[in-house]
Amino acid sequence: MLSADALAYAKSKIRDIPDFPTPGILFKDITPLLAEPRAFHIVLDSIAERFIGQHVDVIVGVEARGFIFGGALAARLNASFVPARKPGKLPAPSDKVSYKTEYSVAELEMHKNSIKRGARVVVVDDVLATGGTAKAAAELVTGQGGEVVAYAFVIELAFLNGRSVLEGGPGRRIETVIAYG
Ligand code: AMP
Repeated sequence: MLSADALAYAKSKIRDIPDFPTPGILFKDITPLLAEPRAFHIVLDSIAERFIGQHVDVIVGVEARGFIFGGALAARLNASFVPARKPGKLPAPSDKVSYKTEYSVAELEMHKNSIKRGARVVVVDDVLATGGTAKAAAELVTGQGGEVVAYAFVIELAFLNGRSVLEGGPGRRIETVIAYG
């Protein structure tokens, strides 16, 4: 277990940017955290220790900041990494879903046949806001026959209640490191 001091240190490296990318949004900027190796380790350790020994086949990372944490976690957990990407980025035939974020409407794509039937998958992103992005990634996974056993986020904007959208439960955990509100 990480100490409260360690988590407070990591939290201190998250920078608030008001009115980005649109007026009224308080953007949680993780670049100062990434620039501090100790803070980056703390959040990776915090997530990884919750899954060690728990049979995770695949980490699905959501473009773009979910790649940063998801890739590092896949390496730590000895899992595959599969990217869920913005439209038009993947070179091979892909599945697509539409979803709503805190500030936009968007689409996500995943290469067809990325997830084996029955694979145990953790969906990873930097921020849980309204939950629409992670839910869309989960739909791509289940559409290919995978099982979403958990979602993992560095930051949770609890006041937006994304958890209710994700419908977590014993068979589908929602893990977050740093919560606001
Ligand atoms: P949502 O689908 O509403 O849960 O939004 C989550 C996605 O949007 C994540 O990929 C985040 O990177 C991004 N996002 C949403 N709100 C914020 C915020 N306030 N600060 C930083 N990123 C955000």
